[in-house]
Amino acid sequence: MIPVDDYLRHIVSLVKPLSPTMLGVYDALGCVLARDLPALVSVPPFTNSAMDGYAMRVADIPEKTCADAPFSLRVVGDIPAGDSRHLTCEPGTAWRIMTGAALPDGADCVVKVEDTDQPSGNAPLPKAVTIFTSPSLHHNIRQAGEDVTEGHIVLQSGIPLTAAALSSATSIGYSQLPVYPQPRIAIISTGTELVTAGKALRHGQIPDSNSVLLHNLAISNHCKVTAVHRCNDSTEEFYHTLIKVAQNADIIITTGGISAGAYDVVKAFGMKSDMYFTRVAMQPGKPQGCGVMTNSRGDSVLVATLPGNPVSVFVSFFAFVRPVLYRLTHRSPNSVLPPIAATFTSSWTSRAGKRQFVPVHVTDPLRPGETPMATPTHHLGSTSHLVASLHLANGLAVIPEDVEEIPQWGIVDVLRLGTDMCS
Ligand code: AMP
Ligand code: MG
Repeated sequence: MIPVDDYLRHIVSLVKPLSPTMLGVYDALGCVLARDLPALVSVPPFTNSAMDGYAMRVADIPEKTCADAPFSLRVVGDIPAGDSRHLTCEPGTAWRIMTGAALPDGADCVVKVEDTDQPSGNAPLPKAVTIFTSPSLHHNIRQAGEDVTEGHIVLQSGIPLTAAALSSATSIGYSQLPVYPQPRIAIISTGTELVTAGKALRHGQIPDSNSVLLHNLAISNHCKVTAVHRCNDSTEEFYHTLIKVAQNADIIITTGGISAGAYDVVKAFGMKSDMYFTRVAMQPGKPQGCGVMTNSRGDSVLVATLPGNPVSVFVSFFAFVRPVLYRLTHRSPNSVLPPIAATFTSSWTSRAGKRQFVPVHVTDPLRPGETPMATPTHHLGSTSHLVASLHLANGLAVIPEDVEEIPQWGIVDVLRLGTDMCS
């Protein structure tokens, strides 16, 4: 058996970071930005009104006997948002102006419509407006560049592109971005007992839940799934499927067929083709295998052969596949939320010499002053076939190799399953 960290280092060393490409802002969610982005335009690009109201000059406010004495100005026209005329506000006049419309030259404040004698909404342009307040200089005005100025680096190379980051990139003038592409993942689940989701089961058969699990884990970790196949335990069928899906994949993930069974085809095939199979000191997920194959285009494709049991697949994804994805996309391992300390609500035992990953539900770690509680999602803990309760887990409690017992209310480290790319 080899330690978890040694196997992790080995599998991650088999991949090289992907080359950057250009992607549109509608397609780049979850990709990692490949270079710094300076603002091509300032935000806002021009000085504009923050309110629907009247643009005027502070100098036109008459000397008042009392603070809120009303005054009137002649209204010379309307400035809707998007109006591209270059306009001027002459002394003694006001423009009716809408939120986001460019401020006319000379105007230095905006009075919102609610502070005038005019109705709000779709009303005819008045000849004059009476104003009930004394606006200060720059009141209700958004200055050009007050968010960011042209040339300023707004988005740094290496950040994951969230919805907010993509809208920021758009606001500073980009439609296409240099990114590290989403890794392409092909999935092959092996097992003659497997049946496609929803199909009737004969005695001895089970639904193929691993394909669904991996497909959706890949998507939610911003990968592109290029193939999903289910194979019987036939070396021939497995080999042909592998060759086929390798044409369009950076990683092939297989499940099942790598233990000690007489029909473990993945292992039988892999042993003949220089794949590395080992037993990792962990529970679940002990049998693991990996290797690199070359497709007909000469591209290297990582083959990660995971065990068949669904909880093992889940744990293996977070323990080994996710770090591989980070390397492929130049993402720092810090993109994974750091483990949190949590109070374990049950007493627990673990086998000496193995790192145990227990699917747990952790309470909100952000509640101030409270250590979150971690509760195993099933009383059998990390037993590897407990697929139907897996959805309750939002973390994996990690019980180190040298710990054999956790008392109830003891403290455990919990690996969180989200990333920093949730917004
Ligand atoms: P294996 O490693 O092929 O011996 O599989 C170990 C266990 O996982 C067996 O009980 C399989 O039936 C189960 N298993 C394998 N593949 C899947 C799958 N795709 N979906 C659900 N269970 C599976
Ligand atoms: Mg099998």
